[in-house]
Amino acid sequence: MRLLIMGPPGAGKGSQAELIKKHFSFPHISTGDMFREAIAKKTPTGLLAKSYIDKGELVPDEVTIELVRGRLQEPDAEQGFLLDGFPRTIIQADMLEEILKENQIRIDLVINLVVEDEVLIKRISGRRICKSCGATYHVETKKPKVIDRCDECQGELFQRADDNEETVKNRLDVYYRQTEPLLSYYRKKGLLKNIDGEGSIEAIFAEIKAILGGI
Ligand code: ADP
Ligand code: ZN
Repeated sequence: MRLLIMGPPGAGKGSQAELIKKHFSFPHISTGDMFREAIAKKTPTGLLAKSYIDKGELVPDEVTIELVRGRLQEPDAEQGFLLDGFPRTIIQADMLEEILKENQIRIDLVINLVVEDEVLIKRISGRRICKSCGATYHVETKKPKVIDRCDECQGELFQRADDNEETVKNRLDVYYRQTEPLLSYYRKKGLLKNIDGEGSIEAIFAEIKAILGGI
């Protein structure tokens, strides 16, 4: 199966993607994670990406598309994949179409998580992430047992550089201008499935599982 997961920043794409990956065992390809890895390794792509990400802007299409093209060519992506955070612009979506066409494959479904802005801002500005295992917490709604320590692995918790309130507002703005138009792009193709993203992680995942079981 070839899936896209979409939604504004903070909609819970990453959390659902983790669960989908575990349950259906196809690779989770997150451009955000790939950029953060490149930044940690200080590769040229990482250094370039950082200057955009820190401001809440999108990384230029050419850079992002090349990254995804390379990743989709890896053997584990042959049987299926879950793309998270890509495409984010119409140009990226058109390029994805071309890449898939070259390989005679197509997207089966686009899952769109729907969440109100106010909720998104609260979720993102309180989000904390474990440095060691990537588990996510929230300073109000999902506190760790010990302050700034991961319950799972005792790793240190940190706040993503782009998770402050100022940058979040810009990320939302960029989302509505550049990414939201993609929803009608996929709706027209009959691929879009909207899901209420404000329920519990488990309830949302149950809904996704039911939908995926039916295709
Ligand atoms: P979120 O969905 O919470 O905003 P991500 O981890 O998906 O977070 O992305 C973080 C940042 O990485 C984005 O704000 C953007 O700067 C950059 N990025 C990720 N995916 C793309 C993409 N497809 N095109 C351009 N920039 C991207
Ligand atoms: Zn941890």
